[in-house]
Amino acid sequence: MSISENLKNISSSLPGNVTLVAISKFHPNESIEEAYAAGQRIFGESYEQELSQKQRTLPTDIQWHFIGHLQSNKVKYIAPYISLIHSVDNAKLLKEINKQAAKNGRTIDCLLQLHVAKEETKYGFFEDEFEEFLDSEAFAQMENVRITGIMGMASNTDDEARIREDFKKLKSVFDKAKATKFKDKDYFNILSMGMSGDYEIAIEEGSNMVRIGSAIFGPRQY
Ligand SMILES: *Cc1c(COP(=O)(O)O)cnc(C)c1O
Repeated sequence: MSISENLKNISSSLPGNVTLVAISKFHPNESIEEAYAAGQRIFGESYEQELSQKQRTLPTDIQWHFIGHLQSNKVKYIAPYISLIHSVDNAKLLKEINKQAAKNGRTIDCLLQLHVAKEETKYGFFEDEFEEFLDSEAFAQMENVRITGIMGMASNTDDEARIREDFKKLKSVFDKAKATKFKDKDYFNILSMGMSGDYEIAIEEGSNMVRIGSAIFGPRQY
């Protein structure tokens, strides 16, 4: 099936409150243009250089999301235009995003990435670190970033029960933060979880933003 057919099938299957981020990493501009022609406007990328190259050459009304591990020294390149950073996994990174946002006269929306999967290699705050950070003076002083929610990934496994458990954990951290630290902050409303292989489970467990790559674009091309 074509990219536009995949996109239509997936979009029409999503509940109305769920935002689709089309993950276009390792796919050429032509693939993004096909999805764009079918109406998609939100795209996600994992690598700064690849993203910046695409941002310069593709339509300016695309909303670009950054979803990969972001090194502090790359923040300055995406700060002028990025619409949401899903993958803020440490305090130092957020401090740099805040600094670069200020330089650009912007406020940058960010999700804090939570670590719930069993793998050692996954990035993100553990729940206690997340809560500690939100209470910190350093965070209170960051005026050019806005935390609009949480992102997380389930364990990389075929065990559906395990995946569901990880998503439940993310939802509970999200609900707790929304009821406490972000009480009365309507902008804290994004729970980004679910990829091609597990987004249906993620939605059942409360996701309202899914990051789908290969189910739209096919296998990554380079
Ligand atoms: C690559 C990637 C995705 C998309 O993965 P697919 O399995 O191709 O849908 C989603 N989230 C993150 C963080 C990724 O790096």
